Amino acid sequence: MNGRNLIGNEYAEGTTSAFKAINPLTGQTLDGEFFPAQQKDVDEALKHAVSAFTVYKNIDKDRKAAFLRAIANEILALGDALIERACAESGLPLGRIQGERGRTVGQLNMFADLVAEGSWVDAIIDNELPDRQPAPRPDIRRMLVAMGPVVVFGASNFPLAFSVAGGDTASALASGCPVVVKAHSAHPGTSALVASAIQKAVVSTGMPEGVFSMLFDSGYAIGEALVKHPKTKSVTFTGSYKGGMALNKIASERAVPIPVFAEMGSINPVLLLPEALEVRAEKIAEQYASSITMGAGQFCTNPGLLLGIASPALTRFKETLALKVAEISSATMLTPGIYDNYQSLSAGMLEEQDVALVAKSDLAVAGATNQALATIAEVSAKVFLANPKLKEEVFGPWSLLVTADTAEELEEVLEYAGGQLTLSVMAEDAELATYKSLLDKAEDITGRILLNGVPTGVEVCAAMQHGGPFPATNDSRFTSVGTTAIRRFVRPLSWQNWSKQLLPLALQDGNPLNIWRLVDNTLTK
Ligand code: NAP
Repeated sequence: MNGRNLIGNEYAEGTTSAFKAINPLTGQTLDGEFFPAQQKDVDEALKHAVSAFTVYKNIDKDRKAAFLRAIANEILALGDALIERACAESGLPLGRIQGERGRTVGQLNMFADLVAEGSWVDAIIDNELPDRQPAPRPDIRRMLVAMGPVVVFGASNFPLAFSVAGGDTASALASGCPVVVKAHSAHPGTSALVASAIQKAVVSTGMPEGVFSMLFDSGYAIGEALVKHPKTKSVTFTGSYKGGMALNKIASERAVPIPVFAEMGSINPVLLLPEALEVRAEKIAEQYASSITMGAGQFCTNPGLLLGIASPALTRFKETLALKVAEISSATMLTPGIYDNYQSLSAGMLEEQDVALVAKSDLAVAGATNQALATIAEVSAKVFLANPKLKEEVFGPWSLLVTADTAEELEEVLEYAGGQLTLSVMAEDAELATYKSLLDKAEDITGRILLNGVPTGVEVCAAMQHGGPFPATNDSRFTSVGTTAIRRFVRPLSWQNWSKQLLPLALQDGNPLNIWRLVDNTLTK
C-alpha cells in the first residue's frame, strides 16, 4: 500500500505532513501514512490527463472494454488485503464489504459490456438530400463524444462502489474521459490499494499514462484546486449538501464554468397509504425498521421521512416500529465526524418544538466506538410544514414520522419536502387510483418512485435513476448509478458534409461497428 499520490504511472511525494487512517470501530490508528498532494501535483495530474485524453478518446471500444475488465480483475486480485483494509477503515461488516466489492467489479464489467456493444454513443445519421426543394439538405451525422478529464470525489459511505474505482470512475473511463480521483480521507488505504489495481490495468492493457491519477488531501485545498483547474471538464461528488454546493459554486464561478454532478442528500419520503396500513401495518413497520437501520443508516436512500394519515392503523405501525427499532443493536458509523454529526443532528431534531421521541434503541455494542443508535421521532404535518429544519437530512439510522389529517395535507408535505432521490409508496392496488393527485405530486419531486418496497438497495442496471430534483442532486437529468451514468461526461457533436473516411467508425456508411443507429429517422443496425 503506497501512501503517495499516484500521477500517471508514477508516485509523487506530496507534502511532508502525513495523515493516518482511523478504525471507527475501535478508535485506533491504522498502519500506513498518506501524504496530501501539493498544487504542483494537481497541475501534473491534469497535464497527464490532457495528454492521455488525446490518445484515449480514440482508442477502439474493445480495448477500452478490456481496460475496464482488467481493472475489475486487478481489484479481485487484491484479495483479502483489500477487504480487510476496507472493513478496518469504514467499520462496515465483512459481508457488506464483500458485497460491495462484487458490485464494484460488476459495475466495471457492466460498463465494459456497454462500451463493447457500442450503441450508447447514440449515433444519428441524416443522409444528404441533394434534390430537396426549396434547398438541398446537407449530410449531418451526430454522436456523443467524451468531454475530457473528470475529477471524481470518492464517497465515504461506499469505500469501494462509490469511490476510487466506483461507478463514477467506471462510467467516466467508459465514456473515453481520463479520471483524477480525490481520495476520501476516511479510507486512504483502501483508496491506495484500488488505485494500484487501476494503475496495473493501465500498464497491462497499454492505456496512455495519465488516463488515471489519484491524489490525497487532508483538507479541502486539493479538492478545490482540482475543481478550479482549467483542464478539468467535469466533476462528480457524493457527500454532504454543504460540500456539494461549495464545489458547485467554485465550478460555476470559473472563467469557463463546468458541470458538477453532486449527489447531496435526500430524506426519501415513504407514503403509508391507509388501506396498506389497515392490512399490514406490522409487516410494513418490520420492513422499515430494518431499512432505516441498515448500514447504520448511512445510505443516501435511507428512509428518513415516514408519512401517513392519522388512524388506528398508523398508530399500530408506529408501535410496532418502536418495538422493532428498540431491538436493533447500535452500529459503527463511518467516521468520528459522521458520528458527531449524527449525534448532534438527531439530538437537535428532538429539541425542536413539538417533536416527540417514538423510540430509540439502547443496545449499544460494548467497547465499540462511534456507535449510532437507531432513533424514530414524530411530529404533526402542521408542525413539519412550519419548521424547515425538520426536512434536513439526518445521516444515520434516523426517521421522522409525520402524521397528516388528510391526503391534501400529505400532498403539501411532499411539495414542501422538496427534491428527493427516492419516494416509496406502501399501498394496496385498489387504493392507488384514490390517491392519484398525491401520487402525481410524488412523481414531481423524485428521481425514483417505488411501490411496496424499501428504497435502500439500489439496483445497478440500465433503467436505474439515481438522481433527483434539487437538493437531492443539482441536476436531476442525470444518474450516478446504472449505464446511463455515462451521459454525464459526453456531449453531442455533429459532423456536416464531413469526409466519409474521416468520420468516426460509429458514423461511417456500412455501419462497421454494427451498432444501433437512427438513420433517416429509422432505428437500424
Ligand atoms: P463531505 O464532507 O461532503 O465530503 C465528501 C468529499 O468532499 C470528501 O472527500 C471531502 O474532503 C470533500 N469536500 C467536502 N467539502 C469540500 C469543500 N468545501 N471543498 C473541497 N472538498 C470538499 O461528506 P462525508 O465526509 O462523506 O460525510 C459528511 C456528511 O456528508 C455526512 O454526515 C452526511 O451528512 C453527508 N453524506 C451524505 C451522503 C449521501 O449519499 N447523501 C453520503 C455521504 C455523506 P475530505 O475527504 O478531506 O473530508
